[in-house]
Amino acid sequence: MQLRYNFRIYPTPGQRSELARAFGCARVVYNDALAARRAAHSNNQSYPTSGELSKRLTEVKRTPERAWLAEVSSVVLQQALRDLDTAYRNFFDGLRGKRPRMGAPRFRSRKDRRQSIRFTANAHWSITAGGKLRLPKVGDVKVKWSRQLPSDPSTVTVVLDAAGRYFASFVVEVADEPLPETDAVVGLDLGLSHFVILSDGTKISSPRFLRRAEKRLKRAQRNLSRKTKGSANREKSRIKVARTHARVADARKGFHHQLSTRLIRENQAIAVEDLCVKGMARTRLAKSVHDAGWSQFVNMLEYKAARHGRTVVRIGRFEPTSQVCSACGVKGGPKPLHVREWTCGACGSIHDRDINAAVNIAKAAGLVASACGAQVRPPSVVAQRKEAGIRPDAAAVSTRSVEGISAL
Ligand SMILES: [Zn+2]
Repeated sequence: MQLRYNFRIYPTPGQRSELARAFGCARVVYNDALAARRAAHSNNQSYPTSGELSKRLTEVKRTPERAWLAEVSSVVLQQALRDLDTAYRNFFDGLRGKRPRMGAPRFRSRKDRRQSIRFTANAHWSITAGGKLRLPKVGDVKVKWSRQLPSDPSTVTVVLDAAGRYFASFVVEVADEPLPETDAVVGLDLGLSHFVILSDGTKISSPRFLRRAEKRLKRAQRNLSRKTKGSANREKSRIKVARTHARVADARKGFHHQLSTRLIRENQAIAVEDLCVKGMARTRLAKSVHDAGWSQFVNMLEYKAARHGRTVVRIGRFEPTSQVCSACGVKGGPKPLHVREWTCGACGSIHDRDINAAVNIAKAAGLVASACGAQVRPPSVVAQRKEAGIRPDAAAVSTRSVEGISAL
């Protein structure tokens, strides 16, 4: 399996301007190629192939207007063309329904929140004996190695984020590390008052440091909205918002890592709600930051499951998990959000709204045959790892293997 490892890097002022030049050149190459593809499209011509675009790039470098492109590593420019290819492939796959729909590739701007360039093996980048990152035409950049790389990476992406921080992002091959099998299974519900509710009744909130950081971010954003456009104060506020934003994202990621590792260690199979089911009516809540956080968390669960021999099952959102009694299966109709506890009219069970939903998620995934209140009994016959969660009558239920690279 391939995973991404990110490390903070600290380029000197000189190296920063070399990197800025490389970001700029990659952007120009990307935008030129995008313009060429758009022109071909509006003239009803076939798209120029990557080979043609690459040949054009070599020619254009010889012209005086674009001669400065030769001042950065040519690999970086070739990779910018690859990025455009990928962006188009994702766009078309979205149209074909192979993945969530996304917009057509757009022009990159100097003002984008995130700038990046990629060096592949043939760029001859390296990690020096002294632990620095040697980049062609940039130099040896200081790296803060927060953990060890499990294997030699072949490519490195250098990223500048909105908060002005630089990162080196490596793609590395990691070995599978199966954990000893266990009988425990769990269903997770994305909570309203809590981050997640487990089908065993545990409610998990975001840690206080994250909530505090989120509050600070809201304050900074309010502050920014009051500043006049184009003023120096607004620029200062914008940077502050970006920094606070980065801190919140880091804190959230740390929390997600901790929780996902724990759940994977403790359970053989985990059922989660899939919020990305296409064409599903989505509530305002589901569109919130909460939602974005949830998909990051589910991604972590999935790649950790694949690596450690566990199963993650996604349940379609259409399952009325909050309406059905998890004890007798009778559908009690929709319940307004303020109803936190209800009694089943058919069997008399008293349910906590969130826990009932988490139990239903576990049941829908085929992880538990029956459940009573907050108590989920493990199935008497534990499903084989490969079979868990695959029910012929539930088309939306699928075990998803980790494809390619999951962002860490
Ligand atoms: Zn009931």
